Amino acid sequence: MVNKNATLFLVATPIGNLNEVTPRALDVFRNVEVIACEDTRNSVKLLTHFDIHTKLITYHNFNEENSTKGIISLLEEGKDVALISDAGYPLISDPGYVLVNEVINKGFNIQTISGPSAGINALVASGLNTNHYLFYGFLNSKPTLAKKELKELIDFPYTLIFYEAPHRIEKTLKMCLEVFGNRKAVIARELTKLHEEYLRGTLEELTTLTDIKGEIVLLIEGKINEKQEISLESLLPQVEQLVKQGYKTKKAVQDIANEYNVSKNELYNQYVKDK
Ligand code: SAM
Repeated sequence: MVNKNATLFLVATPIGNLNEVTPRALDVFRNVEVIACEDTRNSVKLLTHFDIHTKLITYHNFNEENSTKGIISLLEEGKDVALISDAGYPLISDPGYVLVNEVINKGFNIQTISGPSAGINALVASGLNTNHYLFYGFLNSKPTLAKKELKELIDFPYTLIFYEAPHRIEKTLKMCLEVFGNRKAVIARELTKLHEEYLRGTLEELTTLTDIKGEIVLLIEGKINEKQEISLESLLPQVEQLVKQGYKTKKAVQDIANEYNVSKNELYNQYVKDK
């Protein structure tokens, strides 16, 4: 009989600094039957650092189907399994999607164990809009297809997050400038590591940089919506109207702020100040 009590743990691992693994993640690593990872040579370093010797098996893009079957068999025997990738969250520009779907279909438990993810680390320090964003991950490695992908994002009004390899970043920046025009952008490199650095500017400024090394997240401001230029004062009558209709102030502010793509906190403060 299938044992539905077994759990697949999706565990985030450090994106550089080994101290960014949580005590909870270490407990999971110690207690599961096996840890499925992209590259055992890489993951064994992390586990040895914490004196953990749980069995590692590979789960990567080229054996996803087969490895999924093996992991499902373990879960059927009631054995817990952890899935990790080389860095950050599994499934975020990393393997795991096939397995997670199969585990859901078969009715086993899934739990996530939190940790860093390069895109989120980069976003919060970027200085770009964090209210809404699109995590895109890697663009296609073929320039013509990458350009097509970028064109599909032209009208998207929120911050765009890309992963990029150092040998492609200069070409990608030029392509982004060509497609998006001169928007604000940020290169976040080597996050959590010794040479962590944020290069902030416009796309035009960033295209003058050369020899950008290390692991890179590229963030680009979304399309500026003309509505963003609107003054907060001009929106107050609309907030007031909703309040008169019976909306709670916070809800009225939120709806108008969302409609005009302005900060709800700033609009709220302005509304309260004007009262
Ligand atoms: N699963 C990972 C995550 O949750 O962030 C992403 C894995 S993806 C294969 C690797 C890419 O993530 C790198 O090419 C780079 O774009 C980005 N990345 C990973 N670690 C990073 C770091 N320490 N600093 C900046 N970017 C990083």
